[in-house]
Amino acid sequence: MNDADLLSGLTPAQREAVTHIDGPLLILAGPGSGKTRVVTHRIAYLLRRGVPGEQILGLTFTNKAAAEMASRVEQLVPGARVRLGTFHRFAAQFLRRHGRHVGLQANFTIYDKEDSLKGLRRAIAEAGVDLMNYTPDAVAAAISWAKNAFIQSHEYSPRDGSPIGSIVQKVYPLYQRWLSRSNAVDFDDLLLNTAVVLQRDPELRRDLDARHRYIMVDEYQDTNLVQYAIARALSIDYPNLAVTGDPDQSIYGWRGADLNNILEFERDFPDVRVVRLEQNYRSTKKILQAAAGLIAHNVKRKRKDLFTLNDDGADVRLVAYRDQTEEAEDVASQIQSALREGRRRARDFAVFYRVNALSREFELALRRRNIPYQIVNGVEFFQRREIKDLVAYLKFIQNPRDEVAFLRIVNTPPRGIGNTTLARVAEFARSQGWDIWTAAARAESIPGVQSRAASKLAEFVRLIDNLTAAASGPMEELLGCVLAETGYRELFRKSSAEEDQERLANVEELLTYARQFDEQHPEPGGLDAFLEEVSLVNDVDAWEGDDRVTLMSLHASKGLEFPVVFLTAVEQGILPHERSLKSNDQMEEERRLMFVGMTRAMEELQISYASMRDFRGRRGLTIPSPFLMELPKNGLQTHGRAAELAGTAARPPQTSDRREPPLRRAGNGQGPRLTTAAALAGSAASGPARTDDYAQDMLVAHPRHGVGRIVALSGSGENRKAVVDFGGRIGRVKFILSKAGLKPLKRSR
Ligand code: ATP
Ligand code: MG
Repeated sequence: MNDADLLSGLTPAQREAVTHIDGPLLILAGPGSGKTRVVTHRIAYLLRRGVPGEQILGLTFTNKAAAEMASRVEQLVPGARVRLGTFHRFAAQFLRRHGRHVGLQANFTIYDKEDSLKGLRRAIAEAGVDLMNYTPDAVAAAISWAKNAFIQSHEYSPRDGSPIGSIVQKVYPLYQRWLSRSNAVDFDDLLLNTAVVLQRDPELRRDLDARHRYIMVDEYQDTNLVQYAIARALSIDYPNLAVTGDPDQSIYGWRGADLNNILEFERDFPDVRVVRLEQNYRSTKKILQAAAGLIAHNVKRKRKDLFTLNDDGADVRLVAYRDQTEEAEDVASQIQSALREGRRRARDFAVFYRVNALSREFELALRRRNIPYQIVNGVEFFQRREIKDLVAYLKFIQNPRDEVAFLRIVNTPPRGIGNTTLARVAEFARSQGWDIWTAAARAESIPGVQSRAASKLAEFVRLIDNLTAAASGPMEELLGCVLAETGYRELFRKSSAEEDQERLANVEELLTYARQFDEQHPEPGGLDAFLEEVSLVNDVDAWEGDDRVTLMSLHASKGLEFPVVFLTAVEQGILPHERSLKSNDQMEEERRLMFVGMTRAMEELQISYASMRDFRGRRGLTIPSPFLMELPKNGLQTHGRAAELAGTAARPPQTSDRREPPLRRAGNGQGPRLTTAAALAGSAASGPARTDDYAQDMLVAHPRHGVGRIVALSGSGENRKAVVDFGGRIGRVKFILSKAGLKPLKRSR
């Protein structure tokens, strides 16, 4: 492919960005405007201009995005040796080489959340602090926040009068000491340590800056301060840092992502070239309009005008279902019809939800219809107990100082090594400043450890020594040895319990994964790389582009696109998430999350909620998300059922209803079929309501609190009062109806 071909499919603005070679570049643009496409084309363009592949570094947020980018670059310039990967992976590889500056040995372990929490609990106990009302999770979040803000344990000081701050001040250093004894890092440390090393060692920084002359960051709006510090440190002598982002799609504020990084960027690089892309190539006009109408409700944003030359397309559908089963059944049956009629393929569909726990109902509905699907939740597999056990063996073989791994495997399968023994060993290790392995190997000399227990520990030490001998072979073989020699496989074999059979199947799956890894990494000594891959999976990494319906969380959907999108369970407390109701900033982040979901859709978009839902072990009436009211009415088609929405107790689902999904049966949202969905979209009953118009269980809109449900009524005439439940933090509020300005969203019959 020549330069002209490379550039021919680009708009003038995209071309400007692609052909920009030296100097900082900031591409700020809305969804579907070709940011990711510009990054890949720019890499190809640089290569064609003679920039050696090794000088180009592309940093992404998911392994999937990196792989996707690699394959697109490969198509454009076959054989290019560009370095593409996630920030975390880049950092892990950097620390394997240079971690000694921060006291890490090359074989360090990466702890996931669950593992780190074990150490944190230990540190909390050691510090002897009273957690008051805080949970260890809250302390973990506060430490994580500090790390993402580039604050190391010795630098941390609490803000005045912050009670959790003074807890963190005591616990943070002990937690770091525990990590360091285990030669381990948590996810945040990967980034923080990398930034610290680059800061401490100017020569190394210069060297790497020269090596990575062209750095590109896609989805820049989701970087945190430390990630920015890394990219920045590598772009001082060669300031060819190109970032692309959309502030409206920033959805990782809770992980420390900082929109100010974009402002920071313009300050750090005053001569930055800024390119704005305004044309959307992904979605129909109606989808784009609906999304734009929603995001316009965010206060903290820069206005952006997006347009598309694509068709108007079908109306966006807003559907109210009776309950989650009806929602899932209807979504599945719509997919089924489209497949049957040959209009679509399974891969064209995506179902999104705010929390992974909502996937189950869709799975059942799709499975019943034999529609192939995949749930994208890559992390889940590696969180299963049996998988964590086996991986812990590998981790311990790689890094015998890993305390979490030791405690996990030393008595799994059971070897008669008791908790008292283990507590003594761990305590002794801590008091001597030893790591756990050293202590275990000398157990017989630890006071209070009985000789029987000591000899069992010695056996365990021998077992690990034997396994370590196989560590340099292929991963599949190593795992096979672990299964055989530890007796782990026997444990499941003997059992006929369904649960154990399922575990065994998972173990087989891990072996398959290892085999695939071996095929991709034929060189010996892959344990480091294997564990790194296992430790740094993201949810979306499990996503394969084969012909199946995709079920995924809104967070995982970032950057992707699908012809048809179902955005489900758009209810108060789910989207926006319960946790977010307290703060305006978080509400804006939830709105951005919905915006991200909507803008994944290319041709069709359906947004839905259910009036009744089983969630978190409770069954109850729901309150539609206030975001639904914000969707512009134009280009929106609403469906729903007057009967249930009027709020009478939900009827059990009836087969006659099932066969005919509400979508085709309901009217177009006009006249007597006016539904909640229609009302929510801005057409709430006109004129002031009379107090008699309100009924029990009716949905009403309040100018400040959003949508709520009437739970109780009392009094009459001017004095008629209503108790309205708005959910979340607002909860129940009592109003005098004649004064409250509550809009009935659905008149009772
Ligand atoms: P997001 O913000 O969602 O990550 P994006 O800005 O990265 O979106 P891309 O994924 O790069 O957008 O592009 C969206 C779609 O538009 C892709 O299918 C891409 O191939 C297509 N596209 C982008 N630019 C053009 C163009 N100039 N001509 C034709 N198609 C284009
Ligand atoms: Mg993109």
